[in-house]
Amino acid sequence: MMARNFGAVLTHRLAELYSKLLPIPCFLCGEFSFQDALCKACTEELPWLGAHCRQCAMPLNVSGICGQCLQHPPPQQASLALFRYETPINHCIAAFKFHQQLVFTHLFAKLLVDKIEQRQQPLPEVIIPIPLHSSRLRQRGYNQSAQLADNLAKRLGVTADKYSLIRQRNTSPQAGLSRKQRKRNLKQAFAVIKPLPYKRVALIDDVYTTGHTVAEASRCLQQNGVEEVEVWTIARAIRHY
Ligand SMILES: [Zn+2]
Ligand SMILES: [Zn+2]
Repeated sequence: MMARNFGAVLTHRLAELYSKLLPIPCFLCGEFSFQDALCKACTEELPWLGAHCRQCAMPLNVSGICGQCLQHPPPQQASLALFRYETPINHCIAAFKFHQQLVFTHLFAKLLVDKIEQRQQPLPEVIIPIPLHSSRLRQRGYNQSAQLADNLAKRLGVTADKYSLIRQRNTSPQAGLSRKQRKRNLKQAFAVIKPLPYKRVALIDDVYTTGHTVAEASRCLQQNGVEEVEVWTIARAIRHY
């Protein structure tokens, strides 16, 4: 069993418990409420993603498939995201990811479930988070996507599988690399540790940037028996950013 950062794990367990018992300040405006990481007003003002491409979640004027996906379809069959990756949601995600603001787990999971249920499509059999490499997991103490996967699975009544898909190479962080380097960086990054009994999977990641990470993970799942992959993310980065 790998040595985990127990300090970090304990801190976020306590934060989680605290948020259930006592009012917490909104991460953005400081207003105290029993609600969530964000108050209602700040949640409403987030950069919500409107109509978007069904396959890659790129914003569109009307829902459909974008030109890029028509020309070069990504391996996943569908994608959805809650927000455009802009201020202030980028700060919220950074806090969720690096600063143990795990109180965001509930808010993001709740909002994702609302969106998922609006689609009136059958649910996937299983939810799989984009894994962190074991050395990065040790450093950070938790994987925010795995937290989200657990919470979503509970709300939707499906399974979360956090162990079958692994990151076999410790890739450099994608930020700061060119498009070409990002693609190369992720080659063979993922593997499965056992044959997968699933046909329909939802992959969870925090931000959909170029799509290389989720594409590489989707390919790995599809090479191992999965037929349909959908990608659920909190935010979609827009190319001109
Ligand atoms: Zn607020
Ligand atoms: Zn698209």
